[in-house]
Amino acid sequence: MLRLQNLTKTYRTGDRALNGVSLTVEPGQVVGLIGPSGAGKSTLIRCINRLVEPSSGQVTLGDTALTGLGHGSLRRARRRIGMIFQEYALVERLTVMENVLSGRLGYVGFWRSFFRKFPPDAVSKAYALLDRVGLSDHVDKRADALSGGQRQRVGIARALAQDPDLLLVDEPTASLDPKTSRQIMRLIVEICDERGLPAIINIHDVALAQSFVRRIIGLKSGEVVFDGAPNELTDAV
Ligand code: ADP
Ligand code: ADP
Repeated sequence: MLRLQNLTKTYRTGDRALNGVSLTVEPGQVVGLIGPSGAGKSTLIRCINRLVEPSSGQVTLGDTALTGLGHGSLRRARRRIGMIFQEYALVERLTVMENVLSGRLGYVGFWRSFFRKFPPDAVSKAYALLDRVGLSDHVDKRADALSGGQRQRVGIARALAQDPDLLLVDEPTASLDPKTSRQIMRLIVEICDERGLPAIINIHDVALAQSFVRRIIGLKSGEVVFDGAPNELTDAV
């Protein structure tokens, strides 16, 4: 379970991006995070794994208070949190397989194996994931040879290769056309459901969120203004 308690973030510029956000995400729950540009969605996602340092409040994942962790333990805790990004954040010159292995092995582990041999179990795990996201015919292609939708499939497989306890997804479809966006959203939600993997998906497109997730959280000016089922959505958001 993920719990946020009274989370605030004020940037050095004085922008108050989060203003006392409290919420809980149950095991297996997939949450769509919506709200206008500047509402604090990206900040909220990034405060969870402390890519952005919260100003106050607490983030707890399972038994671990992420907000209390020092450097080394934070790094280990982040291995339990998979991230998927708008611009995919792939290593363009590496192959699809290598990108996924980097999720599995971590940065240091990846490069150590790169010059010797990848662990066979990591490779077979990566194959299975690439098959699941529909990329088994593209395993040895370089990332920069892929379409946007294919790249995001690599991003999904890479995040899953960590065996995460939580998935943070930041605008996964913002760079994709409408048809591909729907395919990618469907894939993310299906995989989370299969694995009972909880996720928070920052999604600007309200209609897209409504068609794929069962719980929507609406943010506005750094505050939760809606939390409920897609069909209950009001114009408060
Ligand atoms: P959203 O993802 O909903 O568009 P953001 O979390 O990106 O919202 O931004 C929330 C508020 O915080 C906005 O006012 C934005 O300008 C501000 N903000 C975001 N990132 C930074 C930053 N690195 N430094 C200063 N202000 C920021
Ligand atoms: P989003 O994709 O959520 O709309 P933006 O495109 O507004 O975010 O911001 C892109 C980058 O700039 C992010 O890293 C964000 O943290 C940063 N940023 C956003 N607003 C500000 C701001 N007012 N001052 C400094 N950095 C900002």
